[in-house]
Amino acid sequence: MPHNYLSVNTYCRRIFGCKVYKIALSAANTCPNRDGTVGVGGCSFCSAGGSGDFAAPAQLNVEEQITRAKSILGKKGDGLKYIAYFQSYTGTHGDICRLYSIYKRAIEQPDVVGISIATRPDCLGEEALLMIKRLYNIKPVWIELGLQTIHDKTAQLINRCYPLNAYEKAMEDLAKLGVHRITHVILGLPGENRAEMLETVKFAAEKSDGIKLQLLHVISGTKLAESYNNGEFEVLKPNEYYELIADALSLIPEDVVIHRLTGDGAKKDLIAPLWSADKKRVLADLNRTLRKRGIYPQKA
Ligand code: SF4
Repeated sequence: MPHNYLSVNTYCRRIFGCKVYKIALSAANTCPNRDGTVGVGGCSFCSAGGSGDFAAPAQLNVEEQITRAKSILGKKGDGLKYIAYFQSYTGTHGDICRLYSIYKRAIEQPDVVGISIATRPDCLGEEALLMIKRLYNIKPVWIELGLQTIHDKTAQLINRCYPLNAYEKAMEDLAKLGVHRITHVILGLPGENRAEMLETVKFAAEKSDGIKLQLLHVISGTKLAESYNNGEFEVLKPNEYYELIADALSLIPEDVVIHRLTGDGAKKDLIAPLWSADKKRVLADLNRTLRKRGIYPQKA
């Protein structure tokens, strides 16, 4: 059956009236699953950079980071609009006054049209929600939650260290604020079959305004890499992934924004699947599969 999904580019053109670039910034955060607040060692797939490997150096202040990130785009950067993206570690964990000051300075830059903050559902207490509300009074706010899976056995295996009902509560609290809620889902986690992965996609899509579908990447130095090197699981093959994405998109309502369809990690640290490193080819092959299945992006 034909299906037209809402890509993030189309969504941004509708909301902001132009193409918008996400610039990866760092607020020098840590993560409660690393600093002992809820766990140690972090999620088993998470890189040393807290899954934010493209962020500007945290030693720079936020204005310098924005200038640097824009300069990487070169001349192309002139006159563009940006989402200030705080991806690494947990963006609402730690000193909320300090974080608010950084986020406010970022969101107030004239060519920044909004902010996106990646965090955990168990780090959205009253103070954090109030901070988000205040930011939302300035410009649009996107909050990204790393759910990855709805299945307890997998959540334990990857050491996620929060229960599913924490995610459900966070999504309800964020809905009251009216912010754009994005859920991250990883496809290909150890021990999960196709049906289980699609159950997670369906569940997340029903609760979210946007969704990121990510292929599981095995990154060097992670616990997942140890387990992969010991032969404890296999990664997805290209066609398995493309068909899974087609099935996943068919389950996602057409008003839910698709923020990502592939993985996004530093190539130099990628152990598997190595086919995913050729992003251009992956996107071309994926789009071919989607077209065959009658799945197209909506027009702006
Ligand atoms: S994925 Fe997020 S919650 Fe998990 S260890 Fe990395 S930064 Fe922490």
